[in-house]
Amino acid sequence: MGIWKDIKNLFIGMRITSKHLGRHAITVQYPEEKWTMPERSRGIVVLLSDKETGELNCTACMLCQKACPTGAITIDAPRDENKKRHLKGFVVDHGLCCFCGLCEEACNFSALKMATKYEFSALTKEELVWDVNKLQEVGRDVPYIDTRKKKVAAAKPAAPAPAGESAAATGTEGAV
Ligand code: SF4
Ligand code: SF4
Repeated sequence: MGIWKDIKNLFIGMRITSKHLGRHAITVQYPEEKWTMPERSRGIVVLLSDKETGELNCTACMLCQKACPTGAITIDAPRDENKKRHLKGFVVDHGLCCFCGLCEEACNFSALKMATKYEFSALTKEELVWDVNKLQEVGRDVPYIDTRKKKVAAAKPAAPAPAGESAAATGTEGAV
């Protein structure tokens, strides 16, 4: 009885194998071949720079640090006499990061992103702690959509125009 069951299972296995024979391979010959991660995958945290000036987009608003549930982000941004913050240090401990993406969601200034890059394994915990320079360097070639101007414009209430100008503007709009 047992042998018939084994033969039946053998044929079931062969049928499944034959179904996959004509299909393309889904394995990757790593490290010769690299997998392109999907755009929305959550990899390492990096800082983004302005495409024109090369300066960091970060405004030191601290929202990502507050949003981080594991305390992986540490920002050093003291206030000046006008209460404006200036970014002095930005550290991400990728050893603490749980790759939740909350920091990226919290950032309103296209300044921080979870890049789709990989191959950043390290032998010590200390190597997983990235300072502002490393975060910027790795994030330099990371593509992103700069939404800063749109968000700032949306956040600013439109200034009320003087009565005379308002009428003129209305007339111009009508002409267009
Ligand atoms: S992905 Fe999550 S855990 Fe990692 S730094 Fe961002 S908020 Fe913190
Ligand atoms: S939320 Fe964005 S702008 Fe604010 S401190 Fe973090 S990275 Fe900088």
